[in-house]
Amino acid sequence: DVPVQNYLMMTAKEFPSKTAIHFMGKELTYRQVYESARKLAGYLQSLGIKKGDRAAVMLPNTPASVISYFGILMAGGVVVQTNPLYTERELEYQMKDSGAKVIITLDILFPRVAKVKAQTNLEHVIVTAIKDYLPFPKNLIYPFIQRKQSGIIVNIEHEGSNHLLPEILKLPMGTLTEYEFNVKDDLALLQYTGGTTGFPKGVMLTHHNLVANTSMCEAWLYKCKRGEETILGILPFFHVYGMTTVLVLSVMQGQKMVLLPKFDVKTTLKTIQKQRPSLFPGAPTIYIGLLNHPDLGKYNLSSIEACISGSAPLPLEVQQKFEEVTGGKLVEGYGLTESSPVTHSNFLWDQKRVPGSIGVPYPDTDAAIFSLQNGEPLPPGEVGEVGVKGPQVMKGYWNRPEETAEVLREGWLFTGDLGYMDEEGYFYIVDRKKDMIIAGGFNIYPREIEEVLYEHPAVQEVVAAGVPDPYRGETVKAYIVCKEGMSVSEEELNEFARRHLAAYKAPRIYEFRAELPKTAVGKILRRALIEEEKARLR
Ligand code: ATP
Repeated sequence: DVPVQNYLMMTAKEFPSKTAIHFMGKELTYRQVYESARKLAGYLQSLGIKKGDRAAVMLPNTPASVISYFGILMAGGVVVQTNPLYTERELEYQMKDSGAKVIITLDILFPRVAKVKAQTNLEHVIVTAIKDYLPFPKNLIYPFIQRKQSGIIVNIEHEGSNHLLPEILKLPMGTLTEYEFNVKDDLALLQYTGGTTGFPKGVMLTHHNLVANTSMCEAWLYKCKRGEETILGILPFFHVYGMTTVLVLSVMQGQKMVLLPKFDVKTTLKTIQKQRPSLFPGAPTIYIGLLNHPDLGKYNLSSIEACISGSAPLPLEVQQKFEEVTGGKLVEGYGLTESSPVTHSNFLWDQKRVPGSIGVPYPDTDAAIFSLQNGEPLPPGEVGEVGVKGPQVMKGYWNRPEETAEVLREGWLFTGDLGYMDEEGYFYIVDRKKDMIIAGGFNIYPREIEEVLYEHPAVQEVVAAGVPDPYRGETVKAYIVCKEGMSVSEEELNEFARRHLAAYKAPRIYEFRAELPKTAVGKILRRALIEEEKARLR
């Protein structure tokens, strides 16, 4: 067991001139990435960063995000992953909560950092310039600019506490204090949860957590060859899923990462055709977006061999269609921030895979279903809370002992997800405990309703949610996005739902939208829709 950053050093020795990163037409070798990260590490130490100090990275997927992640770890620091779409309020909360001393960001995000800095522990801001990545497609970068700014070049006042990353990377290689690591105890990351169900919590992930989980992914991908694969890096690295399955996995295996700063359907299709990635970890909404593009047939996607879809349920239809179009395998995986994240996956190659299931636990990982009533393990077929145990399970929530004690019990992580296991040991997620709808005393799982509505030919995206109802407590509302050029009436959808669902489960209200609010990994934000509804009723 070695600390995460050592993998970059080892890979840079094994494959010094192999391409580590392809980004919008530019390439960096493993040696270049290692040397840059090493220079940044020395600079961070010169700013006073010591072992265990937190340093934040607030960047979309770019070479700078890879260099910053490893630079902080090499300096002995703990990476605080920060979503570049955070508002000032969210950013301030995370900086205060984590106590980060340094943040590395883009010039266009600098004004937001500058606004909150005084209220936090931030001592230094390191900035990299968006112009270094030009030509940057406007649709990929505009979402990161929240307020109107004059052009995209922001004037960074050169006060002593602001530093420019490109200048740091031009400095000669300085000395570096090397620390001893206790990999099972020392933190590599504070990884904030996605915030789908509440305020994000800082998950403490150790070096051992990350190395263990990445090694498990490696075992699952055993047909892939070291240094010979290309991985599509669309999943954001500031979220745990992309961080482990793209960033750390690529570095561990010497693979080439093709980075995209944001998911955009057309850019992704073009990039797949040109860069020919073999591995493509993604989320359901990403695969759905690609499959529904009118020009899909014009692109050659045949390089794709293996995709693991995680973060939300993968509709069966999407899986089958994506496999037809690419000729590769798309299987469902499962995990959560608290487990680095992956704990389960369907088999990719020779073994039996069961569509609709999240598969079996990863190597070295135990999983069981626990009764919601008495916490006892349940036999196959019965629905309860999914519990997982393994070396990828977090040390706890940062500064939240009570919340930690609620979810970490006798070595088991209680996931907050409801599911069951079949006789063969395959697991199925029924829904999140928190998303369960209770209407007129009946328990309803939104996922079951969504699966049915996804089968309607005009439906591109759907989310079912429990909205307040004066008589039934909650009632089921379905939010629908139709496929381009298609439409369906409320009556027709209602009839369709009632044909396939018991009457009490069928949505009572439908709302059609052009798009649905999503998290950074494309997870539909049910909570935001419910809150909107509550605000409307107030
Ligand atoms: P928060 O915990 O702050 O509400 P979040 O749930 O989005 O945010 P993540 O750790 O990113 O935080 O997401 C983990 C959750 O995603 C799991 O607990 C589970 O509910 C859901 N999930 C992941 N993979 C799958 C899958 N294959 N099928 C169904 N749900 C999944």
